[in-house]
Amino acid sequence: MSKKFDRSSHILVPTLKEIPQDAEIPSHKLMLRAGLIRKLSSGLYTFLPLGLRSLRKIMEIIREELNEVGAQEVLMPAMQPADLWKKTGRYDSMKDVMYRFEDRQKREMVLGPTHEEVITELVAHEISSYRQLPANFYQIQTKFRDEIRPRFGLMRAREFMMKDAYSFDADQDGVKKSYAGMYKAYENIFARCGLETRVVEADTGAIGGSDSHEFMVVAEAGEDVILESSDGSYAANLEKAQGLSLFPREFEGAEKPIEEVSTPDQKTIQEVADFFQAEPCRLIKTLIYKLEEETVAVLVPGNRDVNELKLAKIVSGEDFELADDQTVMKVTGAPLGFAGPVGLKNVRIIADNSLARFRGGITGANKIDTHLINVDLERDAKVSSYEDVAFALEGDNAPNGNGLLKACRGIEVGHVFNLGTKYSEALNAVFLDQNGKKQTMIMGCYGIGVTRTLQSVIEQLHDDEGIVWPISVAPYEVHVLPLNVKSEASVEVAETLTHALADAGIEVLLDDRKERPGVKFKDSDLLGIPFRVAIGDRSLERGVLEVKARNADVVEIAVHDVAEYVIKAVEQAHQNLNPNKEG
Ligand code: ATP
Ligand code: MG
Repeated sequence: MSKKFDRSSHILVPTLKEIPQDAEIPSHKLMLRAGLIRKLSSGLYTFLPLGLRSLRKIMEIIREELNEVGAQEVLMPAMQPADLWKKTGRYDSMKDVMYRFEDRQKREMVLGPTHEEVITELVAHEISSYRQLPANFYQIQTKFRDEIRPRFGLMRAREFMMKDAYSFDADQDGVKKSYAGMYKAYENIFARCGLETRVVEADTGAIGGSDSHEFMVVAEAGEDVILESSDGSYAANLEKAQGLSLFPREFEGAEKPIEEVSTPDQKTIQEVADFFQAEPCRLIKTLIYKLEEETVAVLVPGNRDVNELKLAKIVSGEDFELADDQTVMKVTGAPLGFAGPVGLKNVRIIADNSLARFRGGITGANKIDTHLINVDLERDAKVSSYEDVAFALEGDNAPNGNGLLKACRGIEVGHVFNLGTKYSEALNAVFLDQNGKKQTMIMGCYGIGVTRTLQSVIEQLHDDEGIVWPISVAPYEVHVLPLNVKSEASVEVAETLTHALADAGIEVLLDDRKERPGVKFKDSDLLGIPFRVAIGDRSLERGVLEVKARNADVVEIAVHDVAEYVIKAVEQAHQNLNPNKEG
């Protein structure tokens, strides 16, 4: 039988009293203070024994739930030939985040930031018939990404653990089923980790594809912004969110003809708004973009920004960038800051939906130091199309009509994605269908940031004293604290209890250090092990021990009943997190 307990005196748990200097968010501070991880270098961390125990538990939960939906575990190499990445075009498109190097034979190699290429190459060779589909492969493995800004400890690291899964289906119905199965598995995984997550619609990037959802842990420290309707029926990543503008579209001067106004040196939206004593939403912001072959003017209300991910879809993935000063001068005839849609020639004009029937607006006049007022967009400009091209805003109407959008921040812990045939086409993952006809497989891909999930649990579940682990992810289930290791009676009770619990399959950390009770209690709160049994001389004289759940009050239990009491409490705690599983 495997050992179910450890002695604090034998394992490395370097707790810190001081708050580490370079940690900004609570979970990062706590991971360092509780001795779960240590930093080697920017974005690179060592897992110490307790951190690794918790990480393994998350991995096991993931494995159980993925095996349940029929996914098969594999393990792919982290080191990969560059040639494979050239076939899908990602050797270029991902070059900024990819670690690349040459081996001694001068072969170009990469360290995998993700594994679509490797798995698709494998499946292209190994699967050839509809009878072998659907298939779903996953691995839990180290990923390498040269992130621009590694930060917040494990949240954005350069080397991190990811669970990545890839499904292969024969048709659209199949991929829908695979996707739904993984979506459900993800809900189970995060619930079992004790996390409260929000599922949001996510952008599918230039890849296109139909479905994509992100699993978000709502937290101030999150790098993503979520917009959701008041009743929660609509939630999307800001990158993707659509909002129906409630801002007015008709302003003073709507009926009047355009008028030129001299606006010396008033360039920014705020300057112009102040100059006219108008709300920024009354202005039409005109941005000139250079595409591969043409120039486009994108119009959004003054209080919104252009969402370039949305723009990328409108221009069908063509490369584009904001035009430089010279191009703006050439296209509009005026320096930067005075562009407007009226009179623009040889330029495609894309206006945001919220500008439809926009009247009484203010825009640049395509003439230095000059703006136009009373602009009626339909009457005065040649808009090529109205599109969803601006960022949604808090306070917009939700696109499903269920109230107004409000914003919160989230940490993306998981991502599910219907990939279509992008990779299977590039790498020739085809199969013969029932009629012997060659077809391209349809793929889904599904990621979980395993190390990020671990830290997110702490970000969501902690208090002023330390971590408040959910039992499923805690490094140990029970913390046994003999308060006076010089007292033989106290040590004997602690040893007997520890063995009784361990024999019952419970994971125990026995704090056998020669520390003062105050130090032991402080460390115990910091480590956040779900149940603690304190063995003090005085309570022992009365025949009782102090049992405390991390987030509840102390209860006194007769010495002889403690083991049974704790075993039941541990069982119940597991049951609460995973109601589908018995015992
Ligand atoms: P992000 O937008 O946060 O950079 P991503 O879209 O690049 O994430 P994916 O490529 O979908 O992420 O990776 C799958 C999962 O891996 C993410 O949902 C996230 O939980 C995790 N992850 C991604 N990058 C990192 C990182 N640098 N450090 C830790 N975890 C990461
Ligand atoms: Mg990323």
